[in-house]
Amino acid sequence: MTLRIAILGSTGSIGRQALDVAARFPERVEVVALAAHSSAVMLLQQADRFRVDRLALGDPAAAERASRDSGRVIGSGPDALVELASAGDVDVVLNALVGAAGLRASIAALDAGLTLALANKESLVAGGDIIRALGMDRVIPVDSEHSAIFQCLLGEPAEAVSRLWLTASGGPLRGMDATALQSVTVEQALAHPRWTMGPKITIDSATLMNKGLEVIEAHHLFDLPYDRIEVVVHPQSCIHSMVEYADGSVKAHLGATDMRVPIQYAFSHPERWDAPVTPVDFRTLGTLEFEKPDMHTFRSLSLAYEAGRAGGTLPTVLSAANEVAVAAFLAGRAPLTAIPATVESVLERHDRTAADTLAAVEAADSWARRTAEALLP
Ligand code: MG
Repeated sequence: MTLRIAILGSTGSIGRQALDVAARFPERVEVVALAAHSSAVMLLQQADRFRVDRLALGDPAAAERASRDSGRVIGSGPDALVELASAGDVDVVLNALVGAAGLRASIAALDAGLTLALANKESLVAGGDIIRALGMDRVIPVDSEHSAIFQCLLGEPAEAVSRLWLTASGGPLRGMDATALQSVTVEQALAHPRWTMGPKITIDSATLMNKGLEVIEAHHLFDLPYDRIEVVVHPQSCIHSMVEYADGSVKAHLGATDMRVPIQYAFSHPERWDAPVTPVDFRTLGTLEFEKPDMHTFRSLSLAYEAGRAGGTLPTVLSAANEVAVAAFLAGRAPLTAIPATVESVLERHDRTAADTLAAVEAADSWARRTAEALLP
């Protein structure tokens, strides 16, 4: 049987790697819809290569221009992304949109009864309460850590799980002190030692906010309280995450650090397909190191735990304020240390409400963005 997939965010890092997977398994995976934010040229190249005619661009101006220039029908704006995510002839929606724009698409996919391969963290961070109400059993994580945990949990009774261990590479700034962090350049922060990812998530890895968002994501995906979700720095990134059980046994997921593997598993699950990766060779692996994360210097991680524990709209505010601050850093407008400082100030100013409707989440999200913008230089 061919799996019909819609890829939202097809021109980004995850989207392009998903198309690599699709290209290797033409008899198993059929790409039926593609959407991106504004990269029209690449979207049209992908459409030609995979013979896809259902296309959308989230940016209306880019969609209008691309429709005119190419003579093709290209859906325009956020509603068009949602429409692609809920069409009847799709089996799996890969949501690899960047940022809060992904939540509406995730809700649409689940509402339509589709399987959601989730690479958009914000869907769960901001909309975790909504997504959980729609049914987590149709959500397959694509994030490498969560895919690892998902795989470690297969065949195990949920009540036997005592703790989740999320591994963190520590990012390119591991070991720096607060003073050194103040003068970190965009280039330094973008030089991730292990994973090839887009710029926003790479900066989040450098500040450890990425791990913080992943902790919140894990809380919703695997229905565990925050004091049973641990983060451990593991610079080699060979272990992708672990699950500890009631009898003290720990299951770890190891493998190549290649995002195409968890993406492919989201499609192949519960089967496993071949992948052109170099397998782990334990004879030459050398030392695996583990250390406690420095949550004092890398404050974003502790802010994420605090926001997650408080719940309601606080995780939405954390994520939205972070997005704005990361954009300011990438644009050279603010130092790296302004990211956690801004997030913390915005969290302090927020009046928390329940986050069980899209309207509540979107209101908190835009409030947080405005507030963060006003606080940034
Ligand atoms: Mg990850």
